[in-house]
Amino acid sequence: MTVRTRFAPSPTGMLHIGGVRTALFCWLYARRHGGTFVLRIEDTDRERSTPEALHAILEGMKWLGLDHDEGPYYQTARMDRYAEVIRQFLAEGKAYHCYCSKEELDEMRAAQMARKEKPRYDGRCRHRTAPLQGVNPVVRFRNPDEGQVVVDDVIHGPITFDSSELDDLIIARSDGTPTYNFCVVVDDYDMRITHVIRGDDHINNTPRQIQMLRALGVEPPVYAHVPMILGPDGAKLSKRHGAVSVLQYRDEGFLPEGLLNYLGRLGWSYGDQELFSLEEMTRLFDIGDVNKSASALNPDKMLWTNQQHILRSTPDRLAAYLRPQLEALGLDATDGAKVAAVAKAQQERARTLKEMAANSVFFFREVEDYEPKAAAKNLNAETAPVLAAVRARLAALDAWRAPALHEAVMAVAAEQGVGLGKVAQPIRVAVSGGTVSPPIDVTLEILGRETTLARLDRAAAFAAGPAR
Ligand code: GLU
Repeated sequence: MTVRTRFAPSPTGMLHIGGVRTALFCWLYARRHGGTFVLRIEDTDRERSTPEALHAILEGMKWLGLDHDEGPYYQTARMDRYAEVIRQFLAEGKAYHCYCSKEELDEMRAAQMARKEKPRYDGRCRHRTAPLQGVNPVVRFRNPDEGQVVVDDVIHGPITFDSSELDDLIIARSDGTPTYNFCVVVDDYDMRITHVIRGDDHINNTPRQIQMLRALGVEPPVYAHVPMILGPDGAKLSKRHGAVSVLQYRDEGFLPEGLLNYLGRLGWSYGDQELFSLEEMTRLFDIGDVNKSASALNPDKMLWTNQQHILRSTPDRLAAYLRPQLEALGLDATDGAKVAAVAKAQQERARTLKEMAANSVFFFREVEDYEPKAAAKNLNAETAPVLAAVRARLAALDAWRAPALHEAVMAVAAEQGVGLGKVAQPIRVAVSGGTVSPPIDVTLEILGRETTLARLDRAAAFAAGPAR
């Protein structure tokens, strides 16, 4: 059997990280088994579906690298097919027209409640032989009266439903449009889905879907209902918790592999290993190892995981993600080699690429103001001679490379009889405006001769200036 999984988001809200994790599990499972990963857009709710949400799904999946082998299929493009199956069910007696009015249904419900029964459609139109003039009927699925439906869930274990608890579900509204659960069934059937991996908010839909699949003459796929992701406070994840759309994580400077590792690990484990490449997760993932209970988001751990992936990444890969962050700050990041060099230099001191960009502005833009405290301490009468000595030595260098720059700084320290820090820190403030930067030799190499010397000149003038 070839594994076929699907991710079936509804474009009614942003693709949030709960959805991303479901998508990841579907993708991992298909990849792990050399199967097919299908993307299906469940857009039948035309009123609530929006182009922005669809865009976020497609962009998000692309950014994450969760590539699909088939699709995207759109349910709105499959209406003829749903109508065909409805006709087929009607012809085979597996569905029937129901003419009950709203008032009639309300009355039925009230009577059942009064008798302390669970309200459900009692099937009164099942045996109707003639249409009711002037009424557009709905179509109901004829649910089997007897027996049980067992959802053999690989995460939750078997869950048994009595068939008698499931009433005859409406599969087409009076205007002929098919309903949600029915479309899912026809799609899973046509797309030959072998493993349905989805949020556990769908568990209660599953027995109905199984009954309809059986009516189509197939055994149901394997089901795996993935528990929810909760906010850090243990409440259902919502806008109130900050980032809701996956694209916000991209904009916040997460690496796709950092976010995927964190989400994968949230709810799934392999011993106590915390860090996984996507390739490693693919090799080790098994849907049966996913936890039953919901897990809460931990923002610090999320950042830590991302940082670990920044550390493990390559300058070129980081550069690809750093560049848009620099551009978002209005910086010119067209020099790819320079962006990669900055990424390499900053790799050890950023939890996100947004943070990395914020700390790297001085590589791409003139230093306008010195941090007042840093300047008072490092650009003053005392350090002015040090800056002048540095300027002279650097200007005389042939090769503007980190090792030579390092030696030059060492030589100034020796000559001035001060520690390395007493030389490096004034240089740092001179070229970056503040006291935090990558090692000074690397920083100067990236900035280049001209920029470095110009900034040293300006800092020397500042240091020699009137006392502030
Ligand atoms: N469209 C559903 C959702 O976004 C998923 C349905 C399914 O996976 O069966 O929640």
